[in-house]
Amino acid sequence: MNDILQAVEAGASADEWSAVPVPESYRALTIRKDEVGLFEGMTTEEKDPRASLHVDTVPVPELGPGEALVAVMASSINYNTVWSSLFEPMPTFEFLERYGRTSALAARHDLPYHVLGSDLAGVVLRVGPGVSRWRAGDRVVAHCLSVELEDPAGHDDSMLDPEQRIWGFETNFGGLAEIALVKANQLMPKPEHLSWEEAASPGLVHSTAYRQLVSRNGANLTQGDRVLIWGACGGLGSYATQLALNGGATPVCVVSSPEKARICRDLGAELVIDRSAEDFRFWLDDNTPNRKEWRRFGSCIRDLTGGEDPEIVFEHPGRETFAASVYVARRGGTVVTCASTSGYDHYFDNRHLWMHLKRIVGSHFANYQEAWRANELVRQGRSHPTLSATYPLDEAPAAVREMQLNLHHGKLGILCLAERAGLGVRDPEMRARHADRLDLFRTRAPA
Ligand code: NAP
Repeated sequence: MNDILQAVEAGASADEWSAVPVPESYRALTIRKDEVGLFEGMTTEEKDPRASLHVDTVPVPELGPGEALVAVMASSINYNTVWSSLFEPMPTFEFLERYGRTSALAARHDLPYHVLGSDLAGVVLRVGPGVSRWRAGDRVVAHCLSVELEDPAGHDDSMLDPEQRIWGFETNFGGLAEIALVKANQLMPKPEHLSWEEAASPGLVHSTAYRQLVSRNGANLTQGDRVLIWGACGGLGSYATQLALNGGATPVCVVSSPEKARICRDLGAELVIDRSAEDFRFWLDDNTPNRKEWRRFGSCIRDLTGGEDPEIVFEHPGRETFAASVYVARRGGTVVTCASTSGYDHYFDNRHLWMHLKRIVGSHFANYQEAWRANELVRQGRSHPTLSATYPLDEAPAAVREMQLNLHHGKLGILCLAERAGLGVRDPEMRARHADRLDLFRTRAPA
């Protein structure tokens, strides 16, 4: 990897990159197929990702048409790596097997190990046949939408492609590694005022929040909207809060500690609910919803907004909160959901939905255009990375554990080929203009 690092440092041209050899193997965060039974009989809480995650040396995959190999300088942890490492709700090897059956090229992904990770910032190492927009040496980030687009269903909105997959979760060769394989149309220009680890961190969650909240495919946020944001200091929520503020809306941030409440206020959000201090209990037991608590939650929101209910509820905790989310949404309002962290068998009282003409909208990642627009917001300095800590690749399992236990704020960065945090900035003037926004979530000194 030394040749690669030297070429990155020297800013080598495309011609010079062609003389840089592609290594035969690379280090990567993996799970192993022969370990999918590791946690059998345990509850989700008892499963520790550090037991199933490995930093292994694996062969560099063959490069196919329309693809690129990227030297990954940094990546970030997403919650999908928590799911992969727990083999929940199903082992991701099932995705790889299914994908592998679709074509000879896809068969490369069906391996006894799965290289995880759905974000990266790095430098293009090689491009495959048919790629003309990108060249070796380009400094890039990658979004995680992998689609085939052979079926017309995805031609208007690429998320509707029947062969839509999340790279590094439903495909192999993800970004938590020294080298990654992507489809070239996943590539986007790196925001050059950011370090490698900062540039790698918004990708998945920012694009998801963009579609979920801003896009007409999601809640179609409008100026003046009040937006209830669960987990406003987490991965998705830290970007939803920024997007709401950028769009002239009023976020009502729900978090679980005074420290997280302070960060939301530093971001510019004035209305914050500490759910731990309030001790909301939306369920009396596993099967009995606690309607009184929905009403108490609604009153808490109205106390902050001057008596108004939210036009939009930004949902992802799932079973634990969903009924309360449907209850508190405004008449005619939208509950937009992209996940079910606390359980996917949701309950809600449908009378509150139909009688008050509310809508529930499902949202998932982002189409090509939405992902590109989200990256442009970062490049323009309108959305900012929310890194609280950065780990070396060897410590990625500990970072996944931190996310599983909800001990992090915002995002967790991972250094892959980057030797230390803070490298890769090419536009220091722009960085200086946004300096006060880049460390808001930082709780620990960079690795
Ligand atoms: P994250 O960084 O862990 O943040 C989630 C936040 O939700 C936490 O900070 C926590 O905030 C809050 N939370 C967790 N459990 C809760 C509960 N029971 N009740 C209320 N709040 C709760 O994770 P993330 O990156 O935002 O992802 C969240 C979920 O969305 C995950 O399940 C992930 O897999 C999914 N996701 C889906 C997509 C998609 O495309 N469909 C994309 C990204 C993420 P407080 O403790 O401060 O309240």
